[in-house]
Amino acid sequence: MPSEANGARTDTHCPYCALQCGMSLTATAEVTPTVEVAPREFPANRGGLCQKGWTSASLLDSPARLTTPLVRIDGELRPVSWDEALDLVAARLTELQAEHGRDAVAVFGGGGLTNEKSYLLGKFARVALGTSQIDYNGRFCMSSAAAAGIRAFGVDRGMPFPMTDLTGADVIVLVGSNPAETMPPFLQHLQGAAAKGGLVVVDPRRTPTAEQADVHLAPAPGTDLALALGVLHATVAEGLLDEAYVAERTAGFDDMWRTVARYWPEHVERITGVSAADQRALARRLAGARNAYVLTARGAEQHATGVDTVSAWIDVALAHGLPGRRGSGYGCLTGQGNGQGGREHGQKADQLPGYRTLADPAAREHVARVWGVEPDSLPAPGRSAYELLDALGEAGGPKALLVFGSNVVVSAPRSQRVADRLGALDLLVAADVVLSETAAMADVVLPVTQWAEEDGTMTSLEGRVLLRRKAIDPPEGVRSDLDVLAGLAERLGQPAGRFPADAEEVFTELRAASAGGPADYAGVTYDRLRAGEALHWPVPEADHPGTPRLFLDGFAHSDGRARFVAVDHTGPAEPPDAEFPLQATTGRVLQHYQSGAQTRAVPELADVVPDAHIEVHPDTAARAGLAAGEVAVVESRRGAVTAPVRCVPSMRPDVVFVPFHFPGGQRANLITNPVLDPTSRMPEFKVCAARLVAARAAEQEAGEAL
Ligand code: SF4
Repeated sequence: MPSEANGARTDTHCPYCALQCGMSLTATAEVTPTVEVAPREFPANRGGLCQKGWTSASLLDSPARLTTPLVRIDGELRPVSWDEALDLVAARLTELQAEHGRDAVAVFGGGGLTNEKSYLLGKFARVALGTSQIDYNGRFCMSSAAAAGIRAFGVDRGMPFPMTDLTGADVIVLVGSNPAETMPPFLQHLQGAAAKGGLVVVDPRRTPTAEQADVHLAPAPGTDLALALGVLHATVAEGLLDEAYVAERTAGFDDMWRTVARYWPEHVERITGVSAADQRALARRLAGARNAYVLTARGAEQHATGVDTVSAWIDVALAHGLPGRRGSGYGCLTGQGNGQGGREHGQKADQLPGYRTLADPAAREHVARVWGVEPDSLPAPGRSAYELLDALGEAGGPKALLVFGSNVVVSAPRSQRVADRLGALDLLVAADVVLSETAAMADVVLPVTQWAEEDGTMTSLEGRVLLRRKAIDPPEGVRSDLDVLAGLAERLGQPAGRFPADAEEVFTELRAASAGGPADYAGVTYDRLRAGEALHWPVPEADHPGTPRLFLDGFAHSDGRARFVAVDHTGPAEPPDAEFPLQATTGRVLQHYQSGAQTRAVPELADVVPDAHIEVHPDTAARAGLAAGEVAVVESRRGAVTAPVRCVPSMRPDVVFVPFHFPGGQRANLITNPVLDPTSRMPEFKVCAARLVAARAAEQEAGEAL
């Protein structure tokens, strides 16, 4: 319902990805949707929106919308009052913790939650529940780039420069990124390099982004790291190293070179399939550019060696003297709406607000003071996302899980195992806007507000803090996640006022908690954001102008130098073999966002792409006896995904691609490998051994096995 008079315009940002395109919402009570979306001039999107943004208001008054709390009674979800739902949840949590200890209750957050929600969720877990068991789905997105960024530069901010700087580049190397489908307005920032013939895309698939590139390098899945080492070798061997930069601004080159010296481009060609000539050409292209950027995304990061893969590409950038130089650099293209802010304020297993670490005594002391509790009362770091999900209902694992803004039944790796673990819980609570596949399994479902119905801040992929403003009132019966946390905290015995439900009040507390930390928001206020100030963190004081470009004067390590990191290629954790001869990889399509829980409920998007598909080379399909459009099954050691085949001549014949937005038997994550990166705990979403069979053959085989 519009909170303003009809026709009132509210400037805000898109609810979906990390580009956070500027848009205006106009309340129009007479028609459906009751809010009209229009693009707005903003540096990220320059007046553009993608299909998801244009149609984002559809979900506000969608019939799929949840508007009343639900409790499972006799196996069915039935409407109850808010008091009944919250009383029940608080009572069960108290019982379970009394019986099994504090860590019997776990919390799972999301990279789409506002900064305020991420912050309050972390505080709720550590203070109201006293549990160490909290993590979030950003672990599945950006954690490898975050860890590699901290290792190299001492601090992680996806893009340590404004994205508009990209416009002036001669060369941009995109590694494992497909913005033509994930964030189309971002392509505007690549046009400068494209106009100079300098757009390079590294991706096993010829994606719509690769189609637009001047150079497309297609390494075998799981070999991006080796490709980076080949380019690095060529850089050094051909005398293209920026020696002055390496001497003045970096450390660790010699260690790195001891490993990389083995990676002759000819050797790397055998591993990756990318020719030695192409590797040398990329090294020369980077060396010849006045301004250049290396940007990584999920394709590089979602591996059991994701941190090392990103490190290898950062090493390439350092060898060419790019990071910390105006007009050049390295950046990570964060995906989820608040993928950046969501990883800064405490919903991660090992983290406190301001990008502080939970294991640091000074950080515990600072944050405990802001929260009004004893530092010793804060739990130790807990399990990472997949490890947490894997332990649910097991001996010694959590007995209850509260899920906010995440649909793990679709988005987590080895998703049938995750669904089974959710089914083993004594209590599953989901706060969501629609009955996602995870909410559908819950014992209690709490209907919460959407972006246009509440205030809150987001931090975009360039570290800029943005204000999302309330444009309309939520439907009756719906409460904000902040309200839910405040209501539960009070029922769990927390003092009144310790968990505020007002977003600006929560943000004021977040500022104090983050003060002095790496992601320092102390000087960011709602008033400054309302006034349109462009504030990139750190912003330590109220009169500080923000820090659009990090590292110009030095990196965040104590000696001011960036670190080369010596990394080695080991390849996918599960290489193809006779039984599973293909490599399966997963990704996105233009019309859907993440698990699809929201975009599948938008008719304009779901009508265009209602289902998953399996993308293969025509020869691969033919070998499996499949024609285009026939239903096929991709099987791995963990499960099988079923969908119609799409024959794409540009696909590598050894690769099969499945988009991951779809539920049921079309869940790409039924087959993915949950093996984890040892540092970031990122699962290996991007590659596993698989085989392709016709659905009829799979059915026959299953019948014979009975
Ligand atoms: S989904 Fe991303 S790219 Fe599309 S309109 Fe929204 S913020 Fe912009």
